[in-house]
Amino acid sequence: MPKIIPFRKPSPPKGHTLCKNGHHKWRLESASRFDVKQGRLVTVHRCERCGQTRVKAL
Ligand SMILES: [Zn+2]
Repeated sequence: MPKIIPFRKPSPPKGHTLCKNGHHKWRLESASRFDVKQGRLVTVHRCERCGQTRVKAL
């Protein structure tokens, strides 16, 4: 009988699981600034957990 090694699923931090599901914890990174690409004022938000940034046009 072969020894059964329990399968251990690597558990990522809970926060990242939420992030993968699109539930980021956005925090205001910087006040409104002018985005040259969009040609208008935007605010930058950064996720506290995964560090992803999101730019939102005003
Ligand atoms: Zn995130």
